[in-house]
Amino acid sequence: MGQPSNVAPFKKTEKAAAVAKPRARFLRQYELVEKVKAYQPDADEEALGAAYVFAVMKHGEQKRHSGDPYFAHPVAVAGLLTDLKLDQATIMAGLLHDVVEDCDVKIPEIKKLFGKEVAELVDGVTKLPKMKEDEGVTRAQQQAENFQKFILATTKDIRVLLVKLADRLHNMRTIEFMPTDESRLRVSRETLEIYAPLARRVGLSLFAGELEDLAFKQVNPEAFSAIVKRLEELVSDDTSVLDRIRSDIETVMSARGVKGELEGRMKRPYSIWRKLETKSISFKDLGDVFAYRFIVPTAEECYRAMGAAHQQWAALSERFKDYISVPKPNGYRSLHTTFLGPGNRRVELQIRTAEMEAIAERGVAAHWKYKNSLYGFDAEAAREAGLDAEAELTAFSEMLKHGAEPEEFLEHAKLQMYQNSVFVFTPKGQLVRLPAGSTPLDFAYAVHTEIGDTTIGARINGQERPLRTALENGDRVEILRGKKPAAQPHWESLAVTGRARSAIRRLTRSAERGEFIAIGQRLIEHALRRIGLEPSEVDQQEMTERTGFERADMLAEAIGRGRLSTADMLEKAFPGLEDPGRSAEHNPDVDAPSLIAGGEMTAGVTMHLAECCSPLPGDRIVGVLIPEKGIEVHVIDCARLAEYEGVADRWIDLRWKPKADSEVKAVGRIHVTTANRRGALALLAKTVSDAQGNIINVKTLKRSPDFFDFEFDVEVESNRRLTQIVAALRALAVVDSAERIKG
Ligand code: MN
Repeated sequence: MGQPSNVAPFKKTEKAAAVAKPRARFLRQYELVEKVKAYQPDADEEALGAAYVFAVMKHGEQKRHSGDPYFAHPVAVAGLLTDLKLDQATIMAGLLHDVVEDCDVKIPEIKKLFGKEVAELVDGVTKLPKMKEDEGVTRAQQQAENFQKFILATTKDIRVLLVKLADRLHNMRTIEFMPTDESRLRVSRETLEIYAPLARRVGLSLFAGELEDLAFKQVNPEAFSAIVKRLEELVSDDTSVLDRIRSDIETVMSARGVKGELEGRMKRPYSIWRKLETKSISFKDLGDVFAYRFIVPTAEECYRAMGAAHQQWAALSERFKDYISVPKPNGYRSLHTTFLGPGNRRVELQIRTAEMEAIAERGVAAHWKYKNSLYGFDAEAAREAGLDAEAELTAFSEMLKHGAEPEEFLEHAKLQMYQNSVFVFTPKGQLVRLPAGSTPLDFAYAVHTEIGDTTIGARINGQERPLRTALENGDRVEILRGKKPAAQPHWESLAVTGRARSAIRRLTRSAERGEFIAIGQRLIEHALRRIGLEPSEVDQQEMTERTGFERADMLAEAIGRGRLSTADMLEKAFPGLEDPGRSAEHNPDVDAPSLIAGGEMTAGVTMHLAECCSPLPGDRIVGVLIPEKGIEVHVIDCARLAEYEGVADRWIDLRWKPKADSEVKAVGRIHVTTANRRGALALLAKTVSDAQGNIINVKTLKRSPDFFDFEFDVEVESNRRLTQIVAALRALAVVDSAERIKG
């Protein structure tokens, strides 16, 4: 009420502010200018003032949800940017960041008044014009497109990101004024999923930590207040302990001649929450709720300080990290150590220089300085300090280049932000960045889909290694390839990247389908012969149509998967013809179709060795078609086979492929009774492994004063091997009896 609609430039701004009765005092124009001039003395006072006044004028009578005049927001954003000591153009962009979106100002006008540089920054943080919902654009699509535009601008100029983060931080600081729960939650989730991780990525942990806590409080208020309460209790309970830890560290350091400043701090609620969430530990086991930071003058003294601590207290060696020699990808440098301090209490200590501290808190923003008499971002110095902001954002710009749809891009970006990276090399020395925990399969698919599809093995640093091996920084990875796509179904669980996993799934699905079709074709051929028809003389097309399928391969797949029995197929295709396969009992006089185990069926895909009788290559075997699963393989005398007596058309004659023993890993079960004597089990285990069996499971069945009963599961390549193992066991003096068990 009574607020001047047209605030005149300069001095009257003070009056405007007074009239609006802001909730919180905000930076006056001269204060803002002073803050900038404190670190950039040659800043253009008039340009800064003009941007300030323009923002105040344009936002006019607009109000924030808090009741503050709207312009308090861009002024606060500019203030946050001066805290980071950013250049004049960035501060002006902070002041002007909302005038295009909210005040009907166009970018060319900004360009004319404030120059190209400022205009481009403002354009970068401005959302696309709102589209109407009746044009069929959803909010999710709109959000995704805005995010894509913003990332594109950020990859061109990192300052766009910094303005956006300051904007988001101020919005989060005032989030309780947002009108609905729904809007508070939406903005908070977006903050946790996108903006806080982006801030971490460029090392701006000061903003990231606050963004996380503010958003966490909205998204999970109960957990937030529970953690805050417990932290407060801890401090009041432990004041004396904390004081003692503090003074002991100080005493030890000065006794060993290390000068520095010690600072104790409590961890942030959100970071505690993340630990509780991801490490399945309870609050009281958390231990490191407090951390100490020791700031010393030089890097050399960091190591001396650590030496001093380790001489006094026992270090937990697995917790020692040297981020000075090997900085984190966002440029973070520090020593971390945890030791058993006074009173055997775990103490976490971070040791670094003041410069490292600045980078730890402000990351990319710590690299604004004068160079060639111009104040701005020193990319070179940042890179030397280990921070390559461009590389940090490369993953996103790569996705942009590959033309991902905005929504897909946003999804991938969210995933990307939660993953730490590992950097590895191709044999030609090309750097490949992968999420931590990646295996050679992820690497292969990251290089090229075709390479991934034909992977059969990998050499890491010249040595052949299993495909499950997690890659480490600096590994040189060479992929061994076969001629044909050859993904194994269990490989999907070895890969961590979405790209590799979906490619492997696609590959095994199509291989599986191929096997089911082949099995189906064999079953169909056999069924036709059963009723006296020669498959080559039957009109396949007509048979397919009569059974209600579009194509012959679809019919074969349905038969192979057991969705349609051959008996039902024959009845539909050739009504009236008598089918001996229909008889209620398995009739040994009627041949079952024959397949080759390990041939057209891959173990684990369409072929499953039954656990009841554990068939081994070399055993006489028989198969039963289990709908949707594939073929279950039993030894010919397995008792379980009685269950399938009534389904004659699901029986399949099987024999092993000649070389099955080199391709199928099967597990045989041995029952052993031994004298109850010390070392008996060790002797049995040694005997089995000497006979080239690999014990994968041992079960003690009975134990009496005189005897032990064991059951061993032994991985072997054939039934002959198992027979040899059983014989070797029987030869032992302690063994009373040993035999293979089936079922
Ligand atoms: Mn804003």
